[in-house]
Amino acid sequence: MPKYLHIVLATGLRQEFTYLPLTASDSVPAPTIGLRVRVAFGRSERVGLIVGMSDATTFDANKIKPVIDYLDSTNLLPPALWQLGLWAAEYYQYPLGDALMHLLPAKLRQAKPNQLVQLNWTLADIDPDFGRAHKQQALWQQLQGLAPAFNLDQLKKQNIKPSQLKPFIEKQWLSTSQPQPQTVRLQLSQQPLDLNAEQAAVVAHLASAHHSFSCHLINGVTGSGKTEVYLQAMADVLEKGQRILLLVPEIGLTPQLLQRLEARFNNRVLALHSGLTEHQRLNAWQQANLGQADIIIGTRSALFTPIPKLGLIIIDEEHDQAYKQQEGFRYHGRDLAIKRAADAHIPIVLGSATPSLESLANVSRGRFQQWLLTQRAGGASNQRYEVIDLRNQPQQAGISQQLKDMVGIQLELGHQVLLMLNRRGFAPSLQCQSCGQTAQCPACDANMTLHRRPPRLHCHHCEHQQPVYLHCPQCNSHQLKPLGQGTERTEEQLQSLFPNTPVYRIDRDTTRNKGSLETMLAQVHAGGPCLLLGTQMLAKGHHFPKVTLAAILDADASLFSSDFRGPEKLAQLLVQTAGRAGRENIPGTAVIQTYQADHPTIDLLVTKGYNAFAQQELASRQQSGLPPLGHMALFHAQAKDANHAFTLLHWLAQQVQDPTLAHLTRSLLMFGPMPAFMARRAHFYRAQLQLQHPNRKRLQQLLQQLCARLDQHPGARKIRWSLDIDPQELG
Ligand code: ADP
Ligand code: ZN
Ligand code: ZN
Repeated sequence: MPKYLHIVLATGLRQEFTYLPLTASDSVPAPTIGLRVRVAFGRSERVGLIVGMSDATTFDANKIKPVIDYLDSTNLLPPALWQLGLWAAEYYQYPLGDALMHLLPAKLRQAKPNQLVQLNWTLADIDPDFGRAHKQQALWQQLQGLAPAFNLDQLKKQNIKPSQLKPFIEKQWLSTSQPQPQTVRLQLSQQPLDLNAEQAAVVAHLASAHHSFSCHLINGVTGSGKTEVYLQAMADVLEKGQRILLLVPEIGLTPQLLQRLEARFNNRVLALHSGLTEHQRLNAWQQANLGQADIIIGTRSALFTPIPKLGLIIIDEEHDQAYKQQEGFRYHGRDLAIKRAADAHIPIVLGSATPSLESLANVSRGRFQQWLLTQRAGGASNQRYEVIDLRNQPQQAGISQQLKDMVGIQLELGHQVLLMLNRRGFAPSLQCQSCGQTAQCPACDANMTLHRRPPRLHCHHCEHQQPVYLHCPQCNSHQLKPLGQGTERTEEQLQSLFPNTPVYRIDRDTTRNKGSLETMLAQVHAGGPCLLLGTQMLAKGHHFPKVTLAAILDADASLFSSDFRGPEKLAQLLVQTAGRAGRENIPGTAVIQTYQADHPTIDLLVTKGYNAFAQQELASRQQSGLPPLGHMALFHAQAKDANHAFTLLHWLAQQVQDPTLAHLTRSLLMFGPMPAFMARRAHFYRAQLQLQHPNRKRLQQLLQQLCARLDQHPGARKIRWSLDIDPQELG
């Protein structure tokens, strides 16, 4: 029995706390690393995790409090996830307690006794005397019908709550045990397709790649049959009795993938999506942990699901920004999934038609194996690009005459058309015609978006909403005019341009209600000619067999982004949108409307394709030492007073120049402190300090030193600061 327990809590502090263990007895298990404990912390009770034990302490032993209790009898996190949590906390310089707690479902982060009720109950073979406890007697008799053992499902069918069993357990008339993981067996419910040579090569290779770590990038044009490759690789894994984790950017946006999984396999599929309640999430977590599902599909955080006998991880649309958590624990789901696969000695597959430059760089370095799928599967031909130069073109509804004619022809032919405009709302702003002022958010350095349904001015950065002005707050003029095009406005205008054609608008506003996206998609699939108008949601993995024309209405918005990833993101959006066209036997056309028709990014994409663009972009990143060829970290600070945020980062910049750190800062590039792109958001002034280093290890060591100094700095406590390692967005 150790004398002291080292415990971490989710306090945001990079610190361990020392407590005394409980006195050992029959009913109290010995503490182990990883066990959840309840402790008194300040004036409240908190949940903590034991991360270490020792027999000596530097604290005053008399002041160390005992833990209140152990919340579980064994560690909840399996070793693989515990390791991953430790690693991620260190890599992302995130407080260990917060990182490890993040791996648990929210319900298990509360200081309550174990709520895991997924147990097997076994009845003792006795005939107790209940005396006058008639209710208990009745319950006992009901349980006899389930004898000798039962599980939660059976209990539910009898309308019995697990809590009702407590008295029996206390008297030891009933014992509990964790169910054993079930075995996995392939259950195909649909014949797999015959693969083409490119597909077959990947599946065959993966089948031989079991039991060792390897990372595979399936770089396949949209519609080239990546999903079919996943399904067949999964079948091989199931056949070997192992389970699969499939990560997707957003499940709600890709109901088709789930449908295809369920059509192909009779195996148990568990979907972890944002619509689950905390309670459902906890249940799902347990089911996975107990091996009650064979295929786990989920978004970023599903990567932390405990899965016994995990045999393969697949990351669909691996380039998607949604894999990076943008606040709090700013981890990258793809990178952690790769780490998890490496620890588990299993293969991992990343798939995309527009791979991230990170993954392509890993292919060049020989770390990933690349599989090119160059042809559309099932007879569909690759789409043709057309660039429409908006200069000197008459436009209606943000649509040039040329595009309008093309749309008209496709509708005549009975086809469907997809139009992408990446701005929701009616208009990006409301402008005064007398003084030129636009409606500014009172809390942000940003315009408020004008919405019509319902009418309001809405800041998309802080969610501030207010009634639409009737006159200009600056000059009182009534001459207010919507400025620019949003999806609501374009929808209205499209409806009058094509009065006999249904227009489906798909953006966050029209899909907020549960099931509304599915309903619209079903109508599109069942229906005849129509116009699909939407934001980038539309570019995400949907399969629209009848769409023959996909157009990007405004490619310019992201062309001049100040973020170095701007061109990459634009290229991905363009290619993904274009990929929605002509996925079946009718050839498709992808149209790009732009005022920059001769821009090199667009030209390269259209003439040579995404991979040529990516190679050129990588070369230019290399020249400037930018990721993925150099490494980057970004310190953010925000405060109500602009000076405070800057003062802290200036102090930090001085630390960087400390001669004792010179061995780490040679070849370091530092930019800032500088204002974030949006210098004020939700009333906070935001500043940032950007660090770039060719050597990841050195940068890590430097960041560790800087975080330790920040923790000690009294000024840092009053200011919200955070560190983003491998940032995906610069501000
Ligand atoms: P991706 O995931 O690359 O977009 P999918 O797997 O969705 O591609 O395939 C696109 C279409 O082609 C689907 O309708 C799919 O059923 C079909 N398909 C895929 N592979 C084959 C194949 N080998 N033979 C015939 N059809 C295929
Ligand atoms: Zn005005
Ligand atoms: Zn705002």
